Amino acid sequence: AKRAARRLASVERSATVALLDRVQQLRAQGRSLVDLSRGEPDFVTPQEITEAAVAALRSGRTHYSPSRGLPELREAIAAKLLADNDVVVSAADGVLVTPSAKHALYAAFTSLLDPGDEVVIPSPGWVSYAAMVSLAGATPVPALLDPATGFRITEAVIEAAVTPGTRILLVNSPNNPTGRMLDAAELEAVLTVARRHDLVVISDEIYEHIRYDGHPHLSPAAYLRENTLTVNGFSKGYAMTGWRLGYLAGPADLVAAARKVQEHSVSCAATFTQIAGTTALEDSQPAVEEMVSAYTARRALLVEGLNFLPGVTCAAPEGSFYAFPDISGTGVPDGSEFAEWMLDDAGVVMTPGPAFGAGGRTHVRLSFAASEQELTDALERMDKALRSR
Ligand code: PLP
Repeated sequence: AKRAARRLASVERSATVALLDRVQQLRAQGRSLVDLSRGEPDFVTPQEITEAAVAALRSGRTHYSPSRGLPELREAIAAKLLADNDVVVSAADGVLVTPSAKHALYAAFTSLLDPGDEVVIPSPGWVSYAAMVSLAGATPVPALLDPATGFRITEAVIEAAVTPGTRILLVNSPNNPTGRMLDAAELEAVLTVARRHDLVVISDEIYEHIRYDGHPHLSPAAYLRENTLTVNGFSKGYAMTGWRLGYLAGPADLVAAARKVQEHSVSCAATFTQIAGTTALEDSQPAVEEMVSAYTARRALLVEGLNFLPGVTCAAPEGSFYAFPDISGTGVPDGSEFAEWMLDDAGVVMTPGPAFGAGGRTHVRLSFAASEQELTDALERMDKALRSR
């Protein structure tokens, strides 16, 4: 009969995509909005990357690539992981180039999980992890992080979420939405629990390049090589969201499993984007640093402004381009209601914290991948709405 698969019943539509639809609708009606809900850089892709893609297309690189990715890109990724992250992988069979980090995660979950398996996901966490686990027929289990500790991962918190059915422990640093980065003690907690229960760690490091105040980036795979899949991509650091290019890397057995999903779903990432991605890794560090220096100024502006608003407190994010203020002192302590209020009253679009799971109940997420003008405008509008309540 005509019905969707049962495992889709527990999957919500993406809250962030739904919000995007709503913004478009309101703008079409003539509403003036400042949109701070965007999860992508507002910069254009650095020119050398685009030039590499155009040259590749002009020279006829318009065919399939090997399913696991072009050899030169796999070599560049393996070299990057070693140089930046102390992560040792084989370019031959330890790297899978995927059309987006999202697809890398999807291929990993789909290839590793059976019905009944559980995945521990620190909450708040990015909206798509739980949905992807459910799509794979398995069960997402939130590990509730405490806002009072700044959303620190502790051994006790993740251990409490582990059952005999747990197969995977997900970590995301720098974190969307909290902006936190895994420190040495948190990494130790992750490694201890993973070793104790023989879990696979999936480490989503997509915001790696965007970090502040010299916070070091720690990769679990440097310490738990045989059991960790590292996921990364080009969308955020290189401003390449529309190109759809990412990768996963790790031990050959885990990568081979994900490769089966890739071979039978998308075959390969687009060949000319892979050529552009190789250029990004080899030549675009200066462009990345320029963007990060712009984010640094915007972060200061937004965080300072948020802390000025009555009832709002905001820790400075260590990485990513998101501020995740606590709005519980505003009189509207629920993140969803607060975001709704700000949209209606102030015309400022933000993502409700509860969209990221129960751990984000009294928070909202504001993206500072937006101009300083937009950030100032948003802060003024919010201030007005909060003071006229
Ligand atoms: N992981 C996190 C935490 C993200 O925020 C995003 C994008 O929003 C992704 C993965 C997906 O990135 P990509 O554009 O490579 O699919």
